[in-house]
Amino acid sequence: MTPETPAETPPEKPAIIPLFGLRPAPSAAGPRDQRPGISGLAPGELEAWMTANGHPAFRARQVLDAAWRGKQTTFAEIHTLPPALRDALDAAFRLDTMAETEILETDGGLTEKALHRLSDGLLIESVLMHYPARGANRERHTLCISSQAGCAVGCPFCATGELGMERDLEIAEILDQVRNAQRRLVADGKHLTNIVFMGMGEPLLNLDRVLASIEALNDKARFGLGARHITVSTSGVVPGIRRLTALGPQFTLAVSLHAARNPLRDVLVPLNRRWPVEEVVAAAREHAATTGRRVTYELTMIDGINDTDADADALAVLLRGDLAHVNLIPMNQVAHTPWTGTPIPVVERFAERVRAAGIAVTIRFNRGTEIGAACGQLAAEHAGQPTPIVVQRRRERIVAQSAAALRGERSLEPVPAGTGEGSA
Ligand code: SF4
Repeated sequence: MTPETPAETPPEKPAIIPLFGLRPAPSAAGPRDQRPGISGLAPGELEAWMTANGHPAFRARQVLDAAWRGKQTTFAEIHTLPPALRDALDAAFRLDTMAETEILETDGGLTEKALHRLSDGLLIESVLMHYPARGANRERHTLCISSQAGCAVGCPFCATGELGMERDLEIAEILDQVRNAQRRLVADGKHLTNIVFMGMGEPLLNLDRVLASIEALNDKARFGLGARHITVSTSGVVPGIRRLTALGPQFTLAVSLHAARNPLRDVLVPLNRRWPVEEVVAAAREHAATTGRRVTYELTMIDGINDTDADADALAVLLRGDLAHVNLIPMNQVAHTPWTGTPIPVVERFAERVRAAGIAVTIRFNRGTEIGAACGQLAAEHAGQPTPIVVQRRRERIVAQSAAALRGERSLEPVPAGTGEGSA
């Protein structure tokens, strides 16, 4: 998934910052720190630990205040706590699950991409996008966060899909991306206004932890952000969408559609081989009807692949009459595909055909393309590029699959492993 923006900021050369001091990225995950992250604890859990370990329960509030509102990243920095308690906390928990974080700025400082190293060495990304006040619109600061390290879905236009699946993130690892961005904003007298689960991974395949994270983000005693300011994106995990609908929360559902026709969507979003596009849209329609919240559909526009008049017309038929909004986003180039983004005049023509069916459409542009702000791009680059022969084979496979899809043939490829209903 990809952070995007309607802003027309011209690209600028990014600051060159050596990521993690140019230390080589580990080729595989190392041992994981087993101490739970403080932000991922359920309400009451820290009080119970304090009591069980002979400390007054009010100390829990001091720790949680530091975690959610303070600048501290280690217990040693919480000076209101007795030294012995700081040591005991450090033995039992982590105040920050991001072992290291480095930031790349671009778009004149409007986009900040954070590359986070986890305790086992895996890399994940979050992207902070600043939107200055414009007309009646207030200033906004939107954070795009990851829910998994890697992703099993394997969309061929996505750098995270190229990385493959590593593991689900812990609740604290999801929330600490937010705390990291908030600390940077607060230092400038600002705060986060929106959070989107559109970074690395498929959020609905780590749904229990994503829901626990949203609960913490909503909770006034913890982060305190209204559900309407949170967007959860999915590539089409139908049981997960139904589960969200049953819960009825008021956050926004975004569906990464990319194609309205099954043969093409089988290739662009391999999860379509398990849950075809009609089922995905039916579940999203039910979500809109139940929650009264408009569903956003995202389409990454790929030149000559999913941007034809026939694709626009199929999309119009699929969504006509729905409580829906379509975002069209020209694709970021990634190494292992032969594809390029659709030229803007073609995107505009596509948009007009869909609008003619009464569907709201916005054309958006990727933020920070020159620093690889498409999800997983920076982590993929840092993890090392695949060899030219591997890239060539992937390209040939993608060309063959998309040619068959454009002839209307359904994919014979299997459903990607690791995309079962899982925690959905
Ligand atoms: S589901 Fe999102 S993160 Fe996963 S491969 Fe597809 S676009 Fe990338």
